[in-house]
Amino acid sequence: MHNLLFRLDPALQQLLARAAELAPTVNATVWLVGGVVRDLLLELPIGRDIDLAVEGDVNQLAPLVAEAWGGHITARHPPFGTATIVVDQWLIDLAQTRTERYPRPAILPEVQPAPLALDLYRRDYSINAMAIRLAARDGQLLPMPLFDPLGGVADLAARRLRLLHDQSLRDDPTRLLRGARLASRLDLTPDRATAAQIAAALAAGYLALLTPERIQTELCLTLAEPDPAAVVALSDQWGMTEQLIPGLRWTPALAERLARYRNDEYGIAALAPAEMVMAGLLLYDLSDDELAMFLQRYHLPTTIRHLINDLVSLRRLTAALTAAASPSELDKLLQPYSVPAIAVLHFASNAPMQPAIARYLREWRSLRPPLNGDDLRALGVTPGPRLGQLLHELRAATLDGLITDRAAAEQWVRQQLANS
Ligand code: ATP
Repeated sequence: MHNLLFRLDPALQQLLARAAELAPTVNATVWLVGGVVRDLLLELPIGRDIDLAVEGDVNQLAPLVAEAWGGHITARHPPFGTATIVVDQWLIDLAQTRTERYPRPAILPEVQPAPLALDLYRRDYSINAMAIRLAARDGQLLPMPLFDPLGGVADLAARRLRLLHDQSLRDDPTRLLRGARLASRLDLTPDRATAAQIAAALAAGYLALLTPERIQTELCLTLAEPDPAAVVALSDQWGMTEQLIPGLRWTPALAERLARYRNDEYGIAALAPAEMVMAGLLLYDLSDDELAMFLQRYHLPTTIRHLINDLVSLRRLTAALTAAASPSELDKLLQPYSVPAIAVLHFASNAPMQPAIARYLREWRSLRPPLNGDDLRALGVTPGPRLGQLLHELRAATLDGLITDRAAAEQWVRQQLANS
C-alpha cells in the first residue's frame, strides 16, 4: 500500500514531488485523489487526467507549481479554488478541498473550503473517495499511507459500488450515469442501499432535472468507455436508458450488431471515428420520431446530427440496396451519405449485404476512372455537361469491371464520341 505512488510514471512522480515540496511554502498540503488512487489500487493503467486536492490556497499554489513544472495553466476558477495545469502529456487538476451544499436538487452546488475528510465525503462513490498525501525529500516522493476514511479499499476488494450518503443522487443525478460507467468498467455491483437509492432516484425522475448539456457530457463519456455497450446494457438493466434516450433498449439485435462491430470481419471500423459508429449503432433501432425527439432534446455536434439524419435516410434504402445488381448501382445509392453513417449501416445490415457495403467503403467509394477531365478533353470531348456525364459513366463502367485500364477507357470514350 505504501508503494502505490511508485507505480506512477517516473516523470509524473517527479512533478508530484516538486508540487509536494512547493506546497509548504504557501502553507498548503497536496493530496492525490479520486480515480487515480482507485486505479493505482486496481493496478490499472493511469490516464492523463490527474486530480490533486489541495488543503490551502490553490490560487497561490497553482502558478508556483505550473512554473516549476514548465507547464501552463489552461483553466482557472479563482472563486472555486480550482486550476488545471497542462504539463507534458498530463492534465493536472488542482482543487481546493471543499464541502458542497445543494440548495436544490441537480443544480451546481455552493462550495466552501473544508478539510480533506469532508472533501472526500462530498464525492460520489467510496472507491473514488481515497487520497494519498504527497510528501517529498530531495526531489523524490516519499512513501505515504493511503487515506481511506470511507472504506474504499474494502469496497474495491468486494467489487462494491457504494454511495456515500443518502441524498447523493438527488444532489447530483449525474452520479447515476457515473455509477453505471464505473460499475460496468470495473465490474462492480451496487450494495443494497445504493441499489435502493438508484431505483428511488430513477423512480423520482431526478435525471429530468439535469440540463441536457450535463447529460450529454456524461453520454459522451459513456461513448469513450472501453466497452460502451456494457454500460448501455447495465444502464438499461437499471431502468435508466429509457429516461435518457427514449427508445434505446438493450436488445439481442443491438447486442449482435455491436458484436459484429467488435469482430469487424471486413476491416471497416478503422474507417470512421469509433464514437460516431458506436453512437449510430446504439441509435439505429430508434424510430424516426424517437430520433427527432433525441435531436431536439440534446444540442449535439453537427457531425452527430448529420450522422443521425443520414441514418434515417439510409435505413429506408435497405430494400433498394439488397436489390442493387451492380457496384455502380450500389455506389449511386450510397454516394450521398457520410462514411460513418455507411459504416453503421454495414454493421447493422444482415450478413448477405455486408460484403458489398464493405467493398463500397474500402474500394468503390474512392475509385477513380482511368481517365480524368483533361484526358477526355485531349480525346476531343468539349468541356460542358457532356464531359461531366461521360466521366460519370466512365466511372460507373469502371466500377462494374467493364473498363479495367486506360486503353480500354480511351477506346470506350472514342466509341461514345462516334455514337453521338
Ligand atoms: P474516470 O476513470 O472515469 O476518469 P475519475 O474518478 O477520475 O474516473 P473524474 O470525472 O476525473 O473521474 O473525477 C475525479 C474525482 O472527482 C472522482 O474520482 C470523484 O472523487 C470526484 N467526482 C467527480 N464527479 C463527481 C460527482 N458528480 N459527484 C461527486 N464526486 C465527483
